[in-house]
Parts: sequence; C-alpha cells; structure tokens
Amino acid sequence: MTDAQALVKTLGFQLDIQSDNENLLYNATLEARSVYNETIRLAKQGVDWDAIPDRVADDADLVKNTTQRVVAKALGAMENYYEYDDFGQPSHIKDGAYPLRANYEEGYNLSLTDDGDVAFRISAKPYKHVTGVLDGNDAHLDILKTALESDEWKIGTAEALFHDGNAELHVNVTNTEQTVRDKHDSRTVIGVDVNEDNVALTALSKAGVEDTLVIDFPEIKFERHRYFTMRKRVQNAGKDSIHDTLEGREERFVRDRLHKVSRHIVEWSRQFEKPCIVFEDLKEMRDSIDYGTRMNRRLHHLPFHALQFYTSYKAAFEGIPTAWINPEYTSQRCPMCGHTERANRNKKRFKCRDCGHQDHSDRGASVNIAVKGIEKHQDWNVPALNSLPQVRKVRRQASGAVDAPTVTHDTVRGYQTNGVAGVSD
Ligand SMILES: [Zn+2]
Repeated sequence: MTDAQALVKTLGFQLDIQSDNENLLYNATLEARSVYNETIRLAKQGVDWDAIPDRVADDADLVKNTTQRVVAKALGAMENYYEYDDFGQPSHIKDGAYPLRANYEEGYNLSLTDDGDVAFRISAKPYKHVTGVLDGNDAHLDILKTALESDEWKIGTAEALFHDGNAELHVNVTNTEQTVRDKHDSRTVIGVDVNEDNVALTALSKAGVEDTLVIDFPEIKFERHRYFTMRKRVQNAGKDSIHDTLEGREERFVRDRLHKVSRHIVEWSRQFEKPCIVFEDLKEMRDSIDYGTRMNRRLHHLPFHALQFYTSYKAAFEGIPTAWINPEYTSQRCPMCGHTERANRNKKRFKCRDCGHQDHSDRGASVNIAVKGIEKHQDWNVPALNSLPQVRKVRRQASGAVDAPTVTHDTVRGYQTNGVAGVSD
C-alpha cells in the first residue's frame, strides 16, 4: 500500500446489562422499528423529507436525537433505493427489533470505571437509561479505551442491537484528521526486538543510530512461569476448572502488561522524525526451522503476536506506520561489520568473532531489524555504523516504568543491580 491510510473503525461489544433494565433496551429497538416503518411509509406517501423527522418524533417513544438518527437511516435506505434500485423499495411493514442508532453524548455515553472497564449508558427511552459495562474482544476494548482518552479520536454514533438474542453495541470511532503515514515515507526506522523478558528498541536514521532503549519486564516472565507451574499442578490433580481459571488470570495479567509495554514503545517512537516501527515477521519465523532453540523458545514464551498487534494499532492512533521484516540472522549478525555467526551471541552478551565488537545482544538484534527495515521499505541507504550510543534501560513493574542505569557495551554484566531512580507513568 502506498497511500496514507484513513482510520475509521466499527468496534463491536456485548452489553453486560444491569438486570433491572434488560427489557427496556429490547423495547427501545422495537420502538426504533416503528420509527423506521413510519419514516418509510411517509416517504412513500410523498411527504416532504424535511418534514418527516419532526412528524415522526412527535409520536416516537424515544429520545429525540435517537429518533432523528433512526429516521436518517431510514431515509438513507430510501435514497439508496432511488439511486440504485438495488433491492426494491424498503419495506415499512417489517416487525422485530431494529438497531437503535444514537449519537455519542446525546443518545448514549461511555466512561472508564475505576476497575478499568468501559461503562455504558444508553438512553433507551426518554428519562430511562440502560446501564452496565461492555464485554468483548480485548483489542476492541483497548481501542475504545484509547479513544476515550485521546483528543485525536472521536467516538461517533453507535448502534444498540440484538444478535442471536444477545444485546450488542457497535461503536464507530474515527480519527478526525489523522491518517497513518505511508511507511515508505519515513525518516527514522525503529527496530523492535521482542524477547521473553524485554524488548529492545533502536531508532536508526540517515545519521546513524539515534538512540536505543531496552524495556525490561522480568515480571511478565516471572508470572508466566509461576502460572505455568500452578497450572501443571492442578492439571495433574485433575482440577480442570481451576486450571481454566488460572489460565484466564494469567492471560489478563499478561495482556495488561503487554498493553503497557506497547504504549511505552509508541511513546518512545513518537520523539523521532517520521518514525516507522519495524517488527520481525512471526509467520516467517515459524516457517523457518533453522533459527535454533532461542527463537523457538521465544516463540513459545511470549505472546509476540499480541504485543505486535497492540503496538501497531496504538502506533496507528498516532499516525505512525508499522512494517515487518524477515527475522533470519537478526540475532547473529554483527551490527558494526555485518559478520554473521551463531557463536557471536551468548545470551545477553554479543561479541563479534570477526571485528571484536561487544554489545548487549538484544540491542544488536534491534539494530539489525532496523537495518532490514530500511533496506526493505525505504529509498534511502543504511548509514555506515562506526559507533553506537549507550543503551538506556527502563524496567517495567506493576508500579510503572522505572529508569534503570545506563549501560554501555563494555559494562554489560553490571547493569542490573545498580541504583534505580523512580519514574512513574
Ligand atoms: Zn563485527
């Protein structure tokens, strides 16, 4: 794709409705059906379309603004008929539920709760509200939460409807001015190396490596291993329901942390000129057998896909494009001289067997990913690398991000235990 990409999304959720007003919403969708029918009937009679909204609203037992939205949708169906004659004239005698279409902050409202849920309040009937929290797809919920907190994103109309007997809310979110920049038009390429206990980020421009950040998340690794052991134990004891509970808990924990890490990646990337965030392509990673145990371990130990996905749509919110490269040799290649050999790397320590360059191995991988990103997607040349800036580290914990001491390639072993200065996010 070479064009900038506009961002409009419809997000679908289940409505977890408070029990005392379950029927209220269903009745409102029946009322929406009669508004729709009445609109079509009047239009067929030849009533002036400008006069229809007021005439219908007088009789409708819905919030006025919501009535107008449903009328507008019905007239849209009439207009389509005149324009395309696709399906014949719309019917005005159907019964059953019809989606209740509402404007944000007029016919419905959303808010973040202290528990991190999204609460809804739908004005089903005048002075009668349906309330509860939204359930559903984790990614959709996260997009909506981001939209609720961002000025750039606008929450638009929503439709409350019944699907297979379940109440749903479909919310439109649009980015009013922002588009995702074309990835080929980037000045800085951010290589992202994802590992079990950290991500390494390197920003590479025509001038060389601008900066490297390593975000440590030992907590995620620790908790995953802890849950793994617990699940094994209850599984062996035949307690499958506990096993599933633990799995759900682990998943929520890991997702929550990965969301924070992905937010951090995007925040860091924003400081550079025209950034493009580059990941290793997981599909190519899986298709290749010969990447050694490190890669296989990495694949099994972290929901890479989730982190990439979270990062890429959060980046899109900021207009930042993402791209993918083939992961082959990214952890074995020397970023300074290009010499590639498996023995170059020993855990977190990289030492080139050819030129002697030493570094934090994950930083080296992130440089190589950025290099590949430039080669694959940009029309400018990879700069010659003569020196690399110090690696900066932050540690992510439940309390937020903490600055860890700076590390250079010749003090790789000492970085973890020095004093830390607290910075909360
Ligand atoms: Zn080298």
